[in-house]
Amino acid sequence: MNEKRVAELIHELLIEIGEDPEREGLLKTPLRAAKSWEFLTKGYHERTEDIVNQAVFESSCSNMVIVRDIEIYSLCEHHMLPFYGRAHIGYIPKDKVLGVSKLARIADCFGRRLQIQERLTAQIANAIKNAINPEGVGVVMECRHLCMMMRGVEKQNSVMTTSSVLGSFHDSTSTRTEFLNLIGRPHV
Ligand code: ZN
Repeated sequence: MNEKRVAELIHELLIEIGEDPEREGLLKTPLRAAKSWEFLTKGYHERTEDIVNQAVFESSCSNMVIVRDIEIYSLCEHHMLPFYGRAHIGYIPKDKVLGVSKLARIADCFGRRLQIQERLTAQIANAIKNAINPEGVGVVMECRHLCMMMRGVEKQNSVMTTSSVLGSFHDSTSTRTEFLNLIGRPHV
């Protein structure tokens, strides 16, 4: 990302919203905001192949693995406002498992981009499938969207739930039910 160029754009944005970018409190805002945008969209420069590299382990385990309550911060692509919440990930290994921190890193890799929650959920599930080819994988995500809370319909308490299920999580009702029981009730 061209930090200087983005800072210039933010400088112009400040003028257009009726601010004075030369007042003391805003002098460094364009550069700070540019650095912030660079961080919040760094997923565009990451590849899941690099993230899972070195963290795929052989395993004969064929029981369900669950990681709950992974914090998610992303930006909606319609308004460029944040949405945030939790992701719950489950999979049944075939012969490989993934280092546990890598599930969270995969979620961040896709979260740090402009997103819709539905696609983010599906991208995480697909990335896990591609990394370790499990029997099945499921991702459930519960998020609050600031574009709904701060503007528009101004609904403060709505939570959006999305899911993506692949393999046995899709084909087997009992596997899917076990997954949903293990992740428990939503609590964003
Ligand atoms: Zn939005």
